[in-house]
Formats: sequence, structure tokens, C-alpha cells
Amino acid sequence: LSERLTETFRNLRTKGKLSPADVDGTVREIRRALLDADVALEVVKEFAAKVRERALGDEVNRALNPAQQVVQIVNEELIAILGGEQRRLEFAKTPPTVIMLAGLQGSGKTTFAGKLAKMLAKDGHTPLLVAADLQRPNAVGQLTVVAERAGATIFAPEPGNGVGDPVRVSRDGIEFAKRHQHDIVIVDTAGRLGVDAELMKQAADIRAAVQPDEVLFVIDSMIGQDAVNTAKAFQEGVDFTGVVLSKLDGDARGGAALSVASVTGRPIIFASTGEGLDDLEAFHPDRMASRILDLGDILTLIEQAQQNFDEAEALKVAEKLANEQFTLEDFLEQMQQFKKMGSMKKMLGMLPGMGNMKQQLEDFDEREIDRTEAIIRSMTPAERRTPKLLNGSRRLRIARGSGVTVTDVNALVQRFEQAAKMMKTVARGGVPNIPGMGPV
Ligand code: GDP
Ligand code: MG
Repeated sequence: LSERLTETFRNLRTKGKLSPADVDGTVREIRRALLDADVALEVVKEFAAKVRERALGDEVNRALNPAQQVVQIVNEELIAILGGEQRRLEFAKTPPTVIMLAGLQGSGKTTFAGKLAKMLAKDGHTPLLVAADLQRPNAVGQLTVVAERAGATIFAPEPGNGVGDPVRVSRDGIEFAKRHQHDIVIVDTAGRLGVDAELMKQAADIRAAVQPDEVLFVIDSMIGQDAVNTAKAFQEGVDFTGVVLSKLDGDARGGAALSVASVTGRPIIFASTGEGLDDLEAFHPDRMASRILDLGDILTLIEQAQQNFDEAEALKVAEKLANEQFTLEDFLEQMQQFKKMGSMKKMLGMLPGMGNMKQQLEDFDEREIDRTEAIIRSMTPAERRTPKLLNGSRRLRIARGSGVTVTDVNALVQRFEQAAKMMKTVARGGVPNIPGMGPV
């Protein structure tokens, strides 16, 4: 898809001023890229028109760097369609929170039910899975297996009771949850291979009976151009409060995300990314925007860098590094800057030539940063400035003070030394510098 698009942006970057022809050329490429990504035509048209209008407007002409501004506009508009901010699940004021799932057969509802139960259980909730798919012979069995693997309880009609009534099972399930202190109820419903009236009515009846706090529409991201019609049908037939994109691990470019979000105006809350029960992620509009544009996350980096990286701070650190005065205090400041920018891993992956560093810091997650902060805060100013002072008894004191083990303190010091070395390398080549974008 996007080598062409990346090329277009690269050409734009080197130009000082944009002509209307430049803008039209770029918009054409964006249209093609989005269609390649399986975004529905009606959505593509609207999007391209909006970008064109903004790109030709005053905003860009007055900008210091018009090319960069167009890149920014594309990114902003994509994020806006995808819902802007990340949206989290909403819980009921009085438990149980009822979450109902809807979607076509095979879209991934049952799998998602298990994933969500597992994720919520990990957060200390006690989810109950309700088997309201009584259509397919094997559906209850499948949910039973999923529930077991997720460590969740299942509520299903007694076997041998003939074909149950999904509305009644759902209602009984919620009563069961109240009696047995389940604070969340996930209602798995039936689907059809295509949209049909009976299916819609059943889902709408369940919705009316159980008054869910969230109705999540699960859609297969590989569905392509059908995404719009399916989503519209479910919005009219049942309506939903949020969307779950499933099978985002495949070749899907995420075009369905853009189509569904755009035509329904409903936020995407989760991305399901595999057959395993742990393959579930909160949906981030900004990351999806760059996935769709396939710009190697450079757009996100630019934005984050602009928003969060304090240039003066960066220069100060770079100077210190050049003079080899990098201390644990600087390290802490640096950590906090990185934390603001998003995960350290991701940052390093995005910086050209830093691929091998990324490997080194593979297990460096944000909780690590918090722990690091706690440890450094337990040091005296002298220790922070001169880490060589950190002998065994000082390390023990620091470990006690910050509630970690001496091994953790040792690991931190080692990481600090690694980072100091790494930062020196960066400093020699200048502060993080993105090709074509000028210094950050
Ligand atoms: P339902 O009919 O909507 O309940 O869909 P299922 O949960 O039964 O899923 C249908 C098929 O898709 C199953 O084979 C699942 O293993 C598979 N599946 C579900 N979610 C994902 C996902 O995120 N990634 C992949 N690769 N497969 C998935
Ligand atoms: Mg199912």
C-alpha cells in the first residue's frame, strides 16, 4: 500500500511551499492508500474532501512548514474519525455491569467474551459469561470451554431442556449474577452468516430485556467493503455503544475500523488480535491511524515529540552527555520525558538506527519506569550525581527505602550505565533527529 504514500510525503517534505497541484496529488495518493486498505468508498470520499479543504486553507499557507502541516492534517483527521481519544468500558454505578455482544456469526464474539472475561478478572472483577447463543448446537459448549480457560463462571440453560429462549437465559443470567456477587455480566449472543431480520429482532429483544450498560458490536476486520453495510444494519437493528475489531492480527489493514467508526460514529473500544485469550488490546485511535497510513509510526513520533519533548530539556541533556556529566538525576528526567512520549520500546524502535537498542531494552516497560523513579527518589542527591558512591550498604538502604530488592537496585544501576553509554552515542550524532523533519 503505502510505499507510494510514504514517497509522496517525502517529496512534500522537501518542498517549501505547496501549490494546489501538490495538494491534489497528495490527496489522490491518500485516496488510493485508503481504498487499498479496504476503507469504504463513501468514507474515503468524505475524508479526502476534508483533507483537501484544510490543506488548501489558510492554516497551511500560514504554516512555517506547509508540507509537514499536510501530513499533520491527514493524521489528525484519521484520528478524529477513529474517535479521537481512547474510550474505556463504562461500568454501572450499581453492579452488575451488563455487557452484551452482537455481531455476525464467526465475527469473534465468543472468543472476545473469553478474552474480556480474562482481562476483567485480572483487574479483580468477577465476570459471569451468559450463553445466550442457543442457535448453533455447539455454541454453549464452545463458551463453556472459553469460560474455563478464562477462569470465569458460565451461566447456561440446563442441557436437555430443549431449545431455550435466549431472552430468558439472559435475564436469568443477570439474576444469577446478582445472587452470586458477579460484578460483570457478559452476554454472548447468536449470529447469522448474513444480516437477517430474525437475528436482529432476537438481539434487540435481549437488549430490551437486560438493559445492558454496554452493547459491543464485534466485527471481523477482514470483512472489507462489507463493513459499512453490516455496521449500519446492526446500528439500526440493535444499536450499540461501542465496537470491537476482531482478527486485527491478520492481513487486515484496519480499513474496516475507519469505515465503521465513520459511518456509525461509535467508538472502537477493543482490538482483538489473535486466537489466544490474551490477544486483546485497548484500541488507540492514534496507533490505528498510523497503521492505516503505514508510515512506520513516524507520524505518531512527530506528534508526540512535538507535544511532549521539551526541546530545552533535550538540549541540556545532550550537552551534559557531551561533557560526560550524565547523572541519575538526568536519567530520571529522561525517563519521565520518554514516559510522556509513550513506551520507551516504541520510541527506540522509531528512531532511525536504534533498532539494536530496542532489542537491548526489550523488557523495559512503563512500570519499570515507575519503579526506577521510586529507587532514584530514595537516593541522596550526592548518590544521584555520583553513582559510583553506590556501595553495598547504600544499595541496601535504597532498596529498603523504595520497597525493592538489592537486585533491583543493581539492575537499575546497570541500566543507567547502559543508558549513559547509549545517550552518549545519540549525543554524538545529535539529539534524536528524524530524517527530513529537522531537529526535534
Ligand atoms: P462468533 O461466532 O462471533 O462467536 O465467533 P467465534 O468467537 O466463534 O470466532 C470465530 C473464529 O474466529 C474462531 O475460529 C476463532 O478462533 C477465530 N477468532 C476470533 N477472534 C479472533 C482474532 O482476534 N484473531 C484470529 N486470528 N482469529 C480469531
Ligand atoms: Mg459465538
